[in-house]
Amino acid sequence: MSEQTNSQAPKSPVTWSLPLFEVSGIPIRVHFTFFLFLAWIGLGHGGMSGVVWVGFITSIFACVLLHELGHALVAKRNGIQTRHITLYPIGGVAMLDGKPKPRQELAIALAGPMVNLVIAAVLTPIVLILYGRIDLSTNLETKGGFVCSLLVANLTLGLFNLIPAFPMDGGRVLRAVLNLKRSDRSATQIAAGVGQALAIGLGFVAAYYGSVILFIVAAFVFLGAGQELTATVTRSFLEGHNVSDAMQTQFRTITSGASMDHAAQMLIEGSQHDFPVVVGEEVIGLLTRNAIAKGLAMDGATGFVAGHMVREFKRADPSLPLEGAVELFSDGDPAPILVMTEDQLVGMLTSENLSEFIMLEHARSRSHKG
Ligand SMILES: [Zn+2]
Repeated sequence: MSEQTNSQAPKSPVTWSLPLFEVSGIPIRVHFTFFLFLAWIGLGHGGMSGVVWVGFITSIFACVLLHELGHALVAKRNGIQTRHITLYPIGGVAMLDGKPKPRQELAIALAGPMVNLVIAAVLTPIVLILYGRIDLSTNLETKGGFVCSLLVANLTLGLFNLIPAFPMDGGRVLRAVLNLKRSDRSATQIAAGVGQALAIGLGFVAAYYGSVILFIVAAFVFLGAGQELTATVTRSFLEGHNVSDAMQTQFRTITSGASMDHAAQMLIEGSQHDFPVVVGEEVIGLLTRNAIAKGLAMDGATGFVAGHMVREFKRADPSLPLEGAVELFSDGDPAPILVMTEDQLVGMLTSENLSEFIMLEHARSRSHKG
């Protein structure tokens, strides 16, 4: 039920999600566990009841999709693109490209829950006509029960997401409001703190009633709040720094005509995993550790570097803000970024460099405090 900014640690390149269609240029995907969930619901109920349930769950997810589109379209109006929307059995995620300003975040965060409240408002007269009244504990398979249950689900989605705590949309609303006066980090710490306190409270309630579902929700809220906090604190350490502040300048290159045996030797000799491939002064590719292993397996020791390097490597200017560099890693490809001015290789940035940079900035910020 949330929008995420894409500036977190590298993710696995395997997405396990099926692309469905595009809305306004935004790819909509469904995670494969969602289909397992549908099958489980359908088979669990069996027969006609199973069909009704599968229809109901699908309808709810259509509403979740509209919720995420609410976030994405308002983001788009504020000049922020959405990389994709993915639906999971526990909800949807709209992956935004870039970080909105507080006022923009406020509008984007509110848009999702508002969509569900509008759907609930539209369904209300239909339920009143079919059912005569709004029954919150309605049975799905009774007359008018389907629409009434959908109304209740949308009301729940809208209100639950407005709880002012991370990782709910309300947490973003709270952060955005606090962010008008406070720093990003301090605003997130408060919103995440509220989220974790709420999750602990919810955990006790779940234990008291022995409710597994409530316990899962509590765990989801607790972990989500922690993740958001980590991402924001991490980002705050990168702010104001460029690629040139974190890149390594001591590294070795390899010539395209070198043998794979030579490449293997270079890999063993030092701690460097990936080697820029050069012809004279010109950089023409990148030889990764995986490529060395694969190359040796395919062609043996006598193969050449040129046959196994990647020509499409990631490159960045030394003046690129570090937050932008993090995004270059977010496609899941762990290969380092070659730092180049024009065509001149001046450095290399690996995800380990970034982690070390964050660790050192963290240590420095502590020494200022003490
Ligand atoms: Zn949301």
